Amino acid sequence: MSDLLEKIVSLAKQRGLIFQSSEIYDGMAAIYDYGPLGVELKRNVKERWWQAMVYQNDDVVGLDAAIMMHPDVWKASGHLDAFNDPMIDDKVSGHRYRADELIEEHAAKLRSDGKEEEAARVEGRLARALQSEEPNRAFYDIIHEEEIRGPDSGSFDWTEVRNFNLMFESNYGPTSDEKVYLRPETAQGIFVNFRNAQETARQHLPFGIAQIGKAFRNEIVARQFVFRTREFEQMEMQYFVKPGAEGEAFEHWREQRMQWHVDNGIRPERLRWHEHEQLSHYAKAAEDIQYQFPMGWKELEGLHSRTDFDLKQHEEHSGKKMSYYDPWEEERYTPYVVETSAGLDRTILMLLCDAYTEDEVSGDERTVLQLHPELAPYRAAVFPLVKKEGMPEKAHAIEADLRQHFNVMYDERGSMGKRYRRMDEAGTPFCITVDGQTMEDGTVTVRDRDTTEQERVPAENVATYLFDRSREWQAE
Ligand code: ATP
Repeated sequence: MSDLLEKIVSLAKQRGLIFQSSEIYDGMAAIYDYGPLGVELKRNVKERWWQAMVYQNDDVVGLDAAIMMHPDVWKASGHLDAFNDPMIDDKVSGHRYRADELIEEHAAKLRSDGKEEEAARVEGRLARALQSEEPNRAFYDIIHEEEIRGPDSGSFDWTEVRNFNLMFESNYGPTSDEKVYLRPETAQGIFVNFRNAQETARQHLPFGIAQIGKAFRNEIVARQFVFRTREFEQMEMQYFVKPGAEGEAFEHWREQRMQWHVDNGIRPERLRWHEHEQLSHYAKAAEDIQYQFPMGWKELEGLHSRTDFDLKQHEEHSGKKMSYYDPWEEERYTPYVVETSAGLDRTILMLLCDAYTEDEVSGDERTVLQLHPELAPYRAAVFPLVKKEGMPEKAHAIEADLRQHFNVMYDERGSMGKRYRRMDEAGTPFCITVDGQTMEDGTVTVRDRDTTEQERVPAENVATYLFDRSREWQAE
């Protein structure tokens, strides 16, 4: 793990952002719980996404579909047959790997050892294998011919490469042995509700359906903290258009989605577009927004032009019409779909990586999370300078006033320096102090997390001041 990632994992645990799931039972691999600060950060991210996607677009409506769906949904979508990753086992260590990632990591190792040509050759072979008729056979051949050894055992004793379906399954009902699956993506809940949502919301094309919810994938190798987990949340929107209009819609959402991340304060130079070299059978275009994580450029969000594949599949499997009648043009057609699909947990990890800063204030080292004020777990902290002379009472009154608008922290313990440091680590953008002067003229100091500068503001104006300063905030 990189230094920065290690620091973030440790800060996340100490400050109550993210914990390993079931930690007292030694934890569950690749499943995480969000603590008191983490849940606030997550709620704020969801809120800003919902604002940008649903409230600011009169042609996008929301949905909250169930995690468990009729098993035929996954037959129709292709997930039962094809939502597989290629796995291979090291017979000596008993460890399981994703065959394509094993090859990718081997190439990365060659490159870091200065063997550029060999790395490029292996990558070329991998790209061809991914497109071949029998990718598992091709992966197996590469692993053998390149003599890729087990990363943990150092030995060279592999099983065949087999398909591993990533869907979690369970049984439905008390007596039935009918299978049910935990959804591996939120998108299908949107597709099967396309007509319900369109008709009840009285929408005409083009229009979109947005949803935030849990998804589950039994990933073969899951590490790198909340980047790849077995239970995660997606923020997805499917935009339905008349066939032929998908190109324009793709461009529109492409621009919107990148801007959303920049508006959240992410450094633009750490974001880029990555075009898929190999398109899924149903896709017309696919591009990912990548972020430069400490472990390299990685996918954060996908934009896919999915044609009418999903609606047509559901029409065929359910026997129900999934087409749309255009009352103006008097024609019926199956809409094309442009999808934007962002991982919430990856967005959280990106925000933490981008916001994490170590600097020096008056000779003291500090760690500070420079999060966008509207995303920070606490918008403000309120401190009485001392625990007497009416200051705690006044500070509590300001706290109560601010709590009507934001999540706020009250703290009277320890030195002012320590209180500031705790709030810097939590990413709290504003710290308000009630001091002697407050008791005389009713003003308080407001300290800015990023510059550490303080300003005096009348106590009754603090809420408005925080709203304005939050809106104006720009990443350094
Ligand atoms: P990857 O190639 O990294 O497995 P993907 O291309 O399979 O991702 P999609 O199916 O397009 O991902 O899902 C959309 C988004 O959901 C991804 O961009 C990512 O942010 C998030 N996501 C997918 N799988 C996981 C996971 N296992 N853990 C956390 N987030 C995930």
